[in-house]
Amino acid sequence: MKSLRNEVIKYAKMLNSKKLSALRSGNISIRYKEGFLITPSGAKYSSLKNKDIVFVSLKGEFDEKKGVPSSEWRFHQDIYLNKMDAKAIVHAHSNYATAVSTHGKEIPAFHYMVVIAGGNNIRCAKYETYGTRELSKNIIKALNLRNACLIGNHGQIAYASNLSKAFELAEEVENLSNQYITALKMGKPKILSSKEMNKVLSKAKNYKKG
Ligand SMILES: [Zn+2]
Repeated sequence: MKSLRNEVIKYAKMLNSKKLSALRSGNISIRYKEGFLITPSGAKYSSLKNKDIVFVSLKGEFDEKKGVPSSEWRFHQDIYLNKMDAKAIVHAHSNYATAVSTHGKEIPAFHYMVVIAGGNNIRCAKYETYGTRELSKNIIKALNLRNACLIGNHGQIAYASNLSKAFELAEEVENLSNQYITALKMGKPKILSSKEMNKVLSKAKNYKKG
């Protein structure tokens, strides 16, 4: 468990160093036994210590004496409950993904790499107050057959089979958001058809198998 806590701290610090989320915004978690280990509420990532990482059960229980989890722990709980393949989650208020999310729009197939989130778009979950069960429900809906989504007027979330992959996916969503915004400055970009995107999807699936 100690090494898993250290991993959470390592990637929480990377939220800052890789410019995915400043200071204490965003959060990181990793599935552990019948629950998950998550970054605490309100702590600056640069000063995180092993004991600061909080265990929350899948029932949403935690020992307050040992620390308070990020106020956004509910959507981590719901993702672990709904997605059996989710072993780690990265939530970031990264600049470009957040900018797109303020328009409440999905990222369409303007680039074939959009399939990295699992399909031919990256959806945007409808806005609700942070930390609420309502927001969590909207996120689960946007994550249908996807492993990343934007969150309206808020940021983005990505999950994967480990923290390294989840972090890389969040970085890719940020990169695609940047490219999408840049493309929009030149007018309406050409959107790839579902037929073309299906070809990419099947290639990506075979690549994963290989
Ligand atoms: Zn947030």
